[in-house]
Amino acid sequence: MNNVKTILTGGALLLGSLTTMAKENPNFDYKVDRFADIEVLRYEVPGFDQLTLQQKEMLYYLSEAAQWGRDIIWDQNGKNNLKLRLILEKIYQKYDGDRDSKDWKAFEKYMKQVWFGNGPHHHYSNDKFVPEFSQEFFEDRVKGICTRCMGASDDKERDAIVAEITRYIFDPSYMPKKVSLDSTGDVITASSVNLYDGVTQEEVEAYFAAKKKVDDPTPISYGLNSKLVKDARGNIHEETYCLNGLYGDAIRHIIYWLDKAKGVAENDAQRAYITKLIDYYITGDLRLFDEYSILWAEDSDSDVDFVNGFIESYNDPLGMTGSWESYVNFRNRESTKRTKIISDNAQWFEDNAPIDAQYRKPHVKGISAKAINAVMLAGDAYPATAIGINLPNADWIRAQHGSKSVTIENITEAYAEASKGNGFREEFVIDAPTRALMDKYLYQTDMLHTDLHECLGHASGQLAPGTDPDALKENGSTLEEARADLFALYYLADPKLVELGIISDPEAYKAEYYQQMMNGLMTQLNRIEPGNDVEEAHMRNRQLIAAWTLDHAKKSKAVQLVKKGGKTYLKINDYNELRNLFGQLLKEIQRIKSTGDYAAGNALVQKYAVKVDPKLHKEVLQRYSTLDIPPYRGFVNPVYVPEYDAEGNITDVKVTYNESYPDQMLRLSRNYSALGK
Ligand code: ZN
Repeated sequence: MNNVKTILTGGALLLGSLTTMAKENPNFDYKVDRFADIEVLRYEVPGFDQLTLQQKEMLYYLSEAAQWGRDIIWDQNGKNNLKLRLILEKIYQKYDGDRDSKDWKAFEKYMKQVWFGNGPHHHYSNDKFVPEFSQEFFEDRVKGICTRCMGASDDKERDAIVAEITRYIFDPSYMPKKVSLDSTGDVITASSVNLYDGVTQEEVEAYFAAKKKVDDPTPISYGLNSKLVKDARGNIHEETYCLNGLYGDAIRHIIYWLDKAKGVAENDAQRAYITKLIDYYITGDLRLFDEYSILWAEDSDSDVDFVNGFIESYNDPLGMTGSWESYVNFRNRESTKRTKIISDNAQWFEDNAPIDAQYRKPHVKGISAKAINAVMLAGDAYPATAIGINLPNADWIRAQHGSKSVTIENITEAYAEASKGNGFREEFVIDAPTRALMDKYLYQTDMLHTDLHECLGHASGQLAPGTDPDALKENGSTLEEARADLFALYYLADPKLVELGIISDPEAYKAEYYQQMMNGLMTQLNRIEPGNDVEEAHMRNRQLIAAWTLDHAKKSKAVQLVKKGGKTYLKINDYNELRNLFGQLLKEIQRIKSTGDYAAGNALVQKYAVKVDPKLHKEVLQRYSTLDIPPYRGFVNPVYVPEYDAEGNITDVKVTYNESYPDQMLRLSRNYSALGK
């Protein structure tokens, strides 16, 4: 995998309550829709109205650029996805039958799932959705769509489209998995993601091995913005995503709106990196992308900021091609005071980390951290999103020029607000005093945990000379996330945080310790199907930390699982000892990373991170089922409405929050279909 740092892509972890946050509207309604295993929320954008007109205008243009990339992620996720969406939406909009019928209800649910997955595969498990409506229902409805409306030139082409899409929906063995990481087979041919065409894993690896220069200190991110294709003659070549290449029809619109944003940029540095980004979109030249990334990482002055491009490579089984995404945001000034204190003291944290001195960074540099409010989420970051980002991903840029680390404050707030009163803590937390502690502090400590994880954790430590950064192979992501989490957990309990004025109560960290341990040992199992292992890297990391410390607390009884009224609860008897254990595990995982000790890393992961106790798993699922808490959550975006004067200049931008989930999806398809017709 790439050196990717996006964290916590789901909602179940963040069940904080918030005595400290500044809500703009006390009656804001966070809940939008609910279906299958998904809840759709909306988020508020506090502070938007107080921005300058120039900033609002810029955010509006960047939001337009973000929305124009939507079709790219749909096509990257599957070659049939745009056609599938077109047909499903036509049926959805034209339906005039019984809306209480079983088939219609099932169709509606499937439509919402497909919207959420940006295709027919689950955004997290990668498995294809199972339609619960009949094939007859579908075929009957398809008859009502005209040949032209389907984008076909004649009936023969139309029949071929219908046959293909019918198979895509109803044949569970056809493209069953978006991304397969099963290393016993060919991960390229086993994945239905549309980043490769006609090539095997061996051919992909050989193609890029031949391109890579040996000992290149500043390598481009090979394959980041291209699809690898074998043509009819058997030649393999890259189709590059750029203005005159693949996805050019969407990229043209993105460039147009980026250029408008450039016209109202806040300063020269920002103008310079937008110019570079546009040049990169025009040419597809990955050198320009690196130059853009450096300028972007080094700009810490601008309040308005954004990500727009082919960034994270989780959807590529070989971790090279970036999925298109966009985050448009602005600095949350109040909260950034907190992250600034942390980054200003980065060297102190590094010098005092409980790891071997030789693996500490002598000079921590280039960490810029801030808290932001999201304005628009798009592409692979929508509807499901992360709550923290640390970019750029290229290792050499991070080492030489630093990185930008952000905590997305208003998204974290929406998760926490929407979780209030859902009964989760009453069911799973052992007693009232612990619940009270969590009610009081968890929102604060969650945010601080994200800050420490992103800004200090990932940036800490160094490799021993000659260690291969990819030596931990398939366990690399899990161990890297564990390292960052442990760094955050260890320091959350440090008196230094009180001394720095970041936290008021030296006991507050206990709320986070309880939450993290309970989640890693029990409650995250809600996301696992009975009989399955833990697969996803962040989940493996959380179980690894919790199960390892539980095991190593046997003697001291610092942490226990206990039974009360037939139910299992986490009991923490000695928080200080738990902190010591976090420190010990951090030391060992840092050693594993610094020396590239694959065997030790693999042993840790296999022993603690993968297997599930079936009895406890069953109990957790049963207890969850009484609560009606969705395992996954995502968001609709606010709608931004510009106001113009007689000359056509923007005089204000109003933010509105009342769009429903289907209305938003249909509006995007109507107004931003660059590739889908
Ligand atoms: Zn991380």
